[in-house]
Amino acid sequence: MKSNKAVVKVIRPKEEPGIAPLVKQMLSMLGEDPGREGLVRTPVRVEQALKFLTNGYRTDVQKIINGALYEVKYDEMVVVRDIEFFSMCEHHLLPFFGKVHVAYLPKNRVIGLSKIPRIVDAFARRLQIQERLTQEIAQTIQEAIDPAGVGVICEARHFCMMMRGVEKQHSGAMTSAMLGAFREQKETRDEFLALVTRS
Ligand SMILES: [Zn+2]
Repeated sequence: MKSNKAVVKVIRPKEEPGIAPLVKQMLSMLGEDPGREGLVRTPVRVEQALKFLTNGYRTDVQKIINGALYEVKYDEMVVVRDIEFFSMCEHHLLPFFGKVHVAYLPKNRVIGLSKIPRIVDAFARRLQIQERLTQEIAQTIQEAIDPAGVGVICEARHFCMMMRGVEKQHSGAMTSAMLGAFREQKETRDEFLALVTRS
């Protein structure tokens, strides 16, 4: 007697869809042999590396901030300087990296200091341009604690400038975002600049 059970055959494509097969194809198009020993696992490694370097898309910034906001009577400038970051330029998918300095003038709320580098990472680990990265960090702090002002300075070096095109290997780019008192009051801005340029 024949069984009524349907036989479901799952047909999988030879290669799972993902970034790795595309990288393999790219290696061929660059004139390489993706089958040679040193390159066999490269597509998988590149996929893993890219996923890590863009995990900011999957980071919930609100979650970082929540539970780290404190009501305090403190109205002096808070500065976190020399926060290292590594990002990827959205024009060439090449790294740019450097330091971010963050400051704010609290009204009656502060954010846990350790959260600021995590906010920087959440935005750096995406495809970025330096100007937007700087703005997004400032805007996030502004919205989280509504301070009297926020200042963010970003100093970076771009592989797309260093390795190709202009090949100015020592050129760096500097961007800043100044909100509230940091934009309106010269003394506040100067105090911030003095604090972050002091070695
Ligand atoms: Zn670039």
